Amino acid sequence: MTVHRYHRQTLLEGIGKEGQERLRSASVLVAGVGALGCAVADHLVRAGIGHLRLIDRDLVEPTNLQRQCLFAEDDLGSPKAIAAANRLQAINHDVQLEAVVDDLRPAVAHDMVDRCDAIADGLDNFATRFLLNDLSVKFGLPYAYGGAVGYEGTSAFLRPSPLHRQRLVTREISEAESGPCLRCLVPATPPAHLTPTCDTAGVLSPVIAVIAGLQAAALIQYLAQSAEPLPHVLTRFDARAMRMHQLDISQSQREDCSTCNKGRFAALESDHGSQATTICGRDLIQLLPPEPQPTDLDALHKRLSAHGSFERLPFLLRGTLQDELDQAKQPVGLTVFPDGRVFVHGTLDATRARAIESRWLGG
Ligand SMILES: [Zn+2]
Repeated sequence: MTVHRYHRQTLLEGIGKEGQERLRSASVLVAGVGALGCAVADHLVRAGIGHLRLIDRDLVEPTNLQRQCLFAEDDLGSPKAIAAANRLQAINHDVQLEAVVDDLRPAVAHDMVDRCDAIADGLDNFATRFLLNDLSVKFGLPYAYGGAVGYEGTSAFLRPSPLHRQRLVTREISEAESGPCLRCLVPATPPAHLTPTCDTAGVLSPVIAVIAGLQAAALIQYLAQSAEPLPHVLTRFDARAMRMHQLDISQSQREDCSTCNKGRFAALESDHGSQATTICGRDLIQLLPPEPQPTDLDALHKRLSAHGSFERLPFLLRGTLQDELDQAKQPVGLTVFPDGRVFVHGTLDATRARAIESRWLGG
């Protein structure tokens, strides 16, 4: 290219040629390549971040095309991580891309941040976000948190205290720059019946663009080492009110935080957000939460009834999801118990069962 492709970015005060070089030597984990992951990765690759590792367990589905900006109709049925990497490579051949088709879980978590400088959150559930938060605190990695559902989205660029850093990274989070971790802000996984997901509540695509833009803007400035440290704020965007709300979280680090203060990494040490087992002779996977998670089956019944046929029995809620098909093209079944136990009927694949659980039940 005769004109340097990053010219408009190097013109920026605080980035320049040196900042661009730093971006080239940086590596980011993009955890989840759904709507947010696609949009963040697109920004990072265009900005010239040298290496991206993309992890996602899902396949591209027709309902993704409304908002997941790296996918086209030709990608339907392909693993999202692979389809995204192919598209990103076409955008910028200089960037190194690594696609991992897997469930982000404790067994693979350490490998996912190997030689990474930062984490971008493209997830849809808090159980796995706590895993990212543990990695962020343990290795001193900044964590660009993002979430979007309905007409609203939230973002924060978290730089936990380096108190428990166990490995040095390209750029250290200085004590002066550090702030709360995700668990300081959200101490426990919200119960499933209180967590709307994009699949049950819908999502407006431009909300994704706003939140992913905030995540990417923070990551690019941080990794280019722009002079001014970014503020510790939680930003909420409400598309119906066309309003941004900002909350100062600079003093939100909690003295009793089990992760960034006590150095306990519960999500990394747990078997998984939920333990998956097959039940002999039956075509189903049982997902067991790490601790009983009281679930309001009436609220869940109301929510899931818009997406399939469900009945509330005295000790459980059961039914089928009209938009999730098993291999025989039959609707996938769900049985939910008041203690948070879930049966996913019609599959023996634990990764698919977990994807279905987080898509429809949140958590
Ligand atoms: Zn904390």
